[in-house]
Amino acid sequence: MQSQNEDIGYVAGGSSQFNGQLFHLLMEAPGPIALLRGRDGVCDVHNPQFQKLWGGANQSNLPMRQAWPHQERSGVFEMVEGVFDTGRPYHQYSYTSIAEWNDDGKAEQRYFDLVYSPYRNELGETIGVIIMGLDVTAKTNAHRQLAEQQLLFKDITDAAGTALWTVDTKGNIIFVNQTWLDWTGKPFKAHLGRGWIDFVVPEDRECVISSFLRDVNHKSQFHVDFRVLRKDKRLQWVAATGKPRYTINGEFAGYVGSCMDITERKKTEQLLRDSEERFRNIADSAPVLIWMTGTDKQITFVNKSWTEFAGINQLVGNIGHLHDDLLHPDDQALVVNSYIQAFEAHQEFYLEYRMRNRNDKYRWIGMKGIPRIGPDGIFEGYIGSGMDITEMKEHEQVKNDFIGMASHELKTPITSIKAYVQLLLTIYSKKTDDEFLLRSLSTVNKQINKLTRLITDLLDVSKMESGRLSLNSVEFDLHDLIKETVDEVQHTATQHDILYTPIGPLAVYADRDRIAQVITNFLTNAIKYSPDSDRVDVMVSTDTQAITIGVRDYGIGINPEEQAKIFNRFYRVEGRNEQTFSGFGIGLYVAAEIVRRHGGNVWVESEKGEGSVFYFTLPLYKDLTQD
Ligand code: ADP
Repeated sequence: MQSQNEDIGYVAGGSSQFNGQLFHLLMEAPGPIALLRGRDGVCDVHNPQFQKLWGGANQSNLPMRQAWPHQERSGVFEMVEGVFDTGRPYHQYSYTSIAEWNDDGKAEQRYFDLVYSPYRNELGETIGVIIMGLDVTAKTNAHRQLAEQQLLFKDITDAAGTALWTVDTKGNIIFVNQTWLDWTGKPFKAHLGRGWIDFVVPEDRECVISSFLRDVNHKSQFHVDFRVLRKDKRLQWVAATGKPRYTINGEFAGYVGSCMDITERKKTEQLLRDSEERFRNIADSAPVLIWMTGTDKQITFVNKSWTEFAGINQLVGNIGHLHDDLLHPDDQALVVNSYIQAFEAHQEFYLEYRMRNRNDKYRWIGMKGIPRIGPDGIFEGYIGSGMDITEMKEHEQVKNDFIGMASHELKTPITSIKAYVQLLLTIYSKKTDDEFLLRSLSTVNKQINKLTRLITDLLDVSKMESGRLSLNSVEFDLHDLIKETVDEVQHTATQHDILYTPIGPLAVYADRDRIAQVITNFLTNAIKYSPDSDRVDVMVSTDTQAITIGVRDYGIGINPEEQAKIFNRFYRVEGRNEQTFSGFGIGLYVAAEIVRRHGGNVWVESEKGEGSVFYFTLPLYKDLTQD
């Protein structure tokens, strides 16, 4: 008797023992099951899963080789026969089968672990083979994915320019990537466990091992720099960092870390250290006071000369190179303010102040500070140097005193000579027509005027230097003053026409005589330095803030590099042309100082050979026309 159910499987040979519950159990088992009888493997029973596993259409009561001829080369028949002959079970892992496993018309690949077991009669004789399978598709796929990920991980780590490694909980290396192998030139196995230590430079080993083991024990992150012996015998600096690793369950699993090649960085650091050392040596041996600050004005360096000068070992204080206790009380406020202002604007500065030395004596220091700008254009603080200028200051004082005294002493006889010459001129211009006498007296008068101006300028210089130049400010109309001054200078000028274009009354609050002195200086210079021209222009303009007065000439002009210097004391442009003009180089210095004292500016615009325009400004006071 036989029964067949095409949907659910097949039972052959009237094996009544498979009827009933057991039969249903086999039929509905999730994995494939088949019972093959005899050495020929006649199919007694198989479930639908098995039918899909081995394929084929009708296997009714046929020996396996006839029932599944397409399996002839797959080796499964030999396995059945082997199990039958030996009576020992056989395991076949990851058997692959493509079938419509879901009955949805789509073929799909699945994996099965199969067991071929003998089944026996009551006498213990093998009478057939049972094949049972377990669907391991999910597990196999997961394994494959894992293997692929591991391959990807290996590819990535091998491609990294950084050496990567992992250690177990005891600190034994379990993985190093290709980069480390390339550096050391030794195979993977050589580095496992503690093998890697052989490639650390002997002098660095103790430090590396102790820091490594300490951190591994504490399960803390670690960082250590050491040198590696490369296969090409070069020493390579590496920065090793490691991070503790935990399993999904939160158990400590060892470390994962990297070693970065930092040889170039170390070299640069060494070069920097060398150059810093050189800088320190030079700075310490220099006879000037050298200092450096960071961006916060805090001192980062002072040289030996400084500490020796001040007699202190360390310089502290929040105002950079200025030490509160050492500054002269009279200089403190001004110097600290100027320094802070310059620092905040990142500007160069030069300050002169008194500082107490180790012998409790105040010395004059000329201190120059320059902002330090890094290669990326970022402000890094200041570097400065200072010199003891006490002697220079004393000499200057002596010189100023002398200039002051000499010009003062000269002034009295000159005033008296001038008075007599003018008296003689008045008397003889009416009494005689002796041309020679009159011309001589007039020349003497002119030269005395020049001399008087020179002496007045010298006196002004000495007053300015000692801070005694005081202003006598009043309100007046600048237009009137310009006109008067132009007329006066025009009077003595034989060759030039001074063209003044007024713009109306201009109220200013200033020292009238001093402003006249400035305009006279500009005008006489314009005439003096334009011997081949016959014209000088005076221009005035205003804006909301200031009045600007300009004096233009068409003379010899001034080189750009000289333009800022001509306002310095005793500065005269040198050159064949300039030598023919007499002068002392103090007129512009005095003029500039007068203007600055009024809160104005002076400057020049000029082109060599084309002429110059000298400007000065005065703060606007009030427009008289508006009243
Ligand atoms: P001084 O004319 O007595 O030498 P100043 O202080 O008035 O002194 O001028 C300083 C220098 O500036 C002069 O020596 C001259 O070289 C230059 N300078 C001044 N004014 C002019 C000008 N208008 N044109 C060309 N150079 C000038």
